[in-house]
Amino acid sequence: MAVSFKEVTKRFADGTVALDRLNLQFDLGEFVVLLGPSGSGKTTACRLLAGLEPPSGGRIEIDGRDVTDVPPRFRGIGMVFQNYALYSHKTVFENIAYPLRIRKVAGAEIERQVKEVADLLRIGSYLHRKPGQLSGGQAQRVAVARALVWQPAICLMDEPLSNLDALLRLHMRTELNRLHKKLDKTFVFVTHDQEEAMTLATRIAVLKDGKLAQFDEPRTIYRQPANRFVAEFMGRPAMNILDGTVEGGVFRTGSVACPVDCKDGPVALGIRPEQIELVGADDQDAIRMVVDVKELIEPDTLLIFQNGDASAVTLRTHGDCDGIAAGQPVGLRFPKPALHYFDSVTGQRIR
Ligand code: ATP
Repeated sequence: MAVSFKEVTKRFADGTVALDRLNLQFDLGEFVVLLGPSGSGKTTACRLLAGLEPPSGGRIEIDGRDVTDVPPRFRGIGMVFQNYALYSHKTVFENIAYPLRIRKVAGAEIERQVKEVADLLRIGSYLHRKPGQLSGGQAQRVAVARALVWQPAICLMDEPLSNLDALLRLHMRTELNRLHKKLDKTFVFVTHDQEEAMTLATRIAVLKDGKLAQFDEPRTIYRQPANRFVAEFMGRPAMNILDGTVEGGVFRTGSVACPVDCKDGPVALGIRPEQIELVGADDQDAIRMVVDVKELIEPDTLLIFQNGDASAVTLRTHGDCDGIAAGQPVGLRFPKPALHYFDSVTGQRIR
């Protein structure tokens, strides 16, 4: 294992526990995305890995070596910060060269390496400029170039795309994917953005309250969330999760009644909005509900239903909904293969 967090805890001076016995291991060459709500400990995990903060308990290993007491410079980690942290008085060339200068690399070699990484990031023609003369996307590339120029084994990026506009963000996402494939380095990337996480990550670590909620490939996180938290966190609109009871193979809550493969008793039943089937209101086996709100998210439509006192149900469809309006009764079907079952108390996935 290239990087291991072993029972890592971070308790700040004011008593805040940002990481709570975090266990996380990943391999060299992976693109690991740390994802989670605000305050879940993503930045803290990065800062501890980089050595900018000491853990309060547990240890961090890189390539089998305990680095808990190793200073940042000797950990082999390059960092890209959200605000890029470029030196405004230095040229782009000197910004990128800086990590080489502090490592006392010879002048000609600095020139060669800066040019090489600048070409890789397509910023070769801006080397004479100052950061103030760059666009957001160009400044972002300079920050990435500076993090990579000295060939660290690991590149840590804390929300590096969050200051870019939507289009540029998409473009840089593709660039980072390309860079990762080309360089075969370990990337650790923090984001709030699910889509970014899904497209970039080899594996996503979902954090909640300083703990690991799930660590898996994007497709598994989406298709087999390990618990209710991950199920509701991943996917927009969020997975419908209905608290109800199973009796004789039928799940019931509010006006929902549907056949399930689950033993009798209370259960939290999950179904993604795009997996609910819309059928006619007169369909015998369907769940009959009345459209409360209809929203267009071209090319899709969202239909939202109130389920008595139970939580609302949201359906997302590519289909034609021109004939459907709020107040209209329709039929819904929850196909069995699309159902997720969570323990009604612990929230852990049952099957
Ligand atoms: P965000 O997505 O908002 O950046 P995050 O997941 O990166 O959040 P962290 O910044 O790691 O979360 O913070 C985790 C918790 O630790 C939060 O409750 C935060 O308030 C707290 N925290 C972070 N730094 C400190 C500090 N220096 N002193 C006290 N508490 C802190």
